[in-house]
Amino acid sequence: MKVGVLGGGQLGRMLALAGHRLGIRCRFLEPAERPPAAAVGEVVRAAYDDPAGLDALADGVDVVTYEFENVPVGAVQALAPLVPVRPGPAALELAQDRLAEKDGLRALGIDTADYRAVGSEAELNRALAELGAPVVLKARRMGYDGKGQAIIHSGADIAEAWSGLGGGPGIAEAFVPFDRELSLVAVRGVGGDLAFYPLVENHHDQGILRTTIAPAPNISAGLTERARAYVRAILESLDYVGVIALELFQVGDDLFANEVAPRVHNSGHWTQDGAVTCQFENHLRAVTGLPLGSTEPRGSGTVMTNLIGSVPELPDLLADPAARVHLYAKTPRPGRKVGHVNVAEQPR
Ligand code: AMP
Repeated sequence: MKVGVLGGGQLGRMLALAGHRLGIRCRFLEPAERPPAAAVGEVVRAAYDDPAGLDALADGVDVVTYEFENVPVGAVQALAPLVPVRPGPAALELAQDRLAEKDGLRALGIDTADYRAVGSEAELNRALAELGAPVVLKARRMGYDGKGQAIIHSGADIAEAWSGLGGGPGIAEAFVPFDRELSLVAVRGVGGDLAFYPLVENHHDQGILRTTIAPAPNISAGLTERARAYVRAILESLDYVGVIALELFQVGDDLFANEVAPRVHNSGHWTQDGAVTCQFENHLRAVTGLPLGSTEPRGSGTVMTNLIGSVPELPDLLADPAARVHLYAKTPRPGRKVGHVNVAEQPR
């Protein structure tokens, strides 16, 4: 079986690695030179909206998926007559625009931070007055890992925050005084079958995920049920196929959805060493119409730590015999994710 993947970063690389064991081959469409996926699959080097590149990606593959949600929706629409694309363009549209995302979540009855669309400095002033400080200003499009974001504590911060957005458009969100950040990774198959990984606890620094604790400690049955209901509603409304992640804020017994990732997700990397079937294999199983694998944890817990900005020496990384090291073959740069380490407790 052959799978075309839009994007050739580390997520594509790990999809291909998981696919190899099942005899599933991945081909990537990626504009960058020497992307992380190049070592593990064929790369078509072209812009995401290059018609010849899209044709070359689709040629002879059974299905196309993506590992990066900012591919132009038009590219996915151009592929659709040639080959099944899973998840479909509706999921991309939802996830590419933070305003459409929040509107879509609210329409499904999912709690989010209160928010306002802002298209000018005057609207940002009004949003701050209506929502109350502090407010988180985010670019509507192309924001990730906390990029294009600013926290506004008072009117004095507005001019700088607005100019940082580069002219907008933006979304202003009430700051959620969360107890902790959680996420739920789930997978839905072609026939609508669903499987959920456990809720995990995420720690960010400067908007970048540093650590995931899986499963999240001290999760009530009610919280799990609420998070699953949120994700089920999103998956079913989009007739979604593949892995999805929902990032959440926990405040007491309440859960507020922050962001949807229509792809395999950094907070699911622990599954490579801590779950019966990892998120990458389950995504490939889902999009190719194979039966889903068990999402059960294999041990009592796994901690995933991202390697950011530099790669420690391999002997140092491997000094802990329990460490499972995953490197992405990326040139280190400040703030860049270059690998991760999973430390799983032994199965009981
Ligand atoms: P995002 O790009 O939306 O995932 O935001 C990156 C990080 O900024 C989140 O993981 C939170 O730590 C923080 N953040 C984003 N939105 C809010 C909010 N409305 N209230 C509090 N913290 C937020």
